[in-house]
Amino acid sequence: MGAIEIEFDPLPCKWCRRPLEQRRWWTPKRFCGHGHRAKYRATQVLALFAQLLG
Ligand SMILES: [Zn+2]
Repeated sequence: MGAIEIEFDPLPCKWCRRPLEQRRWWTPKRFCGHGHRAKYRATQVLALFAQLLG
């Protein structure tokens, strides 16, 4: 009792599924790099357009 335990979830990159080392739990990394973040954003934007046009 009283012990503070902080568990770090090994979040994978949302693009390539590579497990990322989480050093800052207040800003969890979701992508292994800016390139994969950009690709993920691009696919989301394309999906949004597909919904609007569909
Ligand atoms: Zn990645």
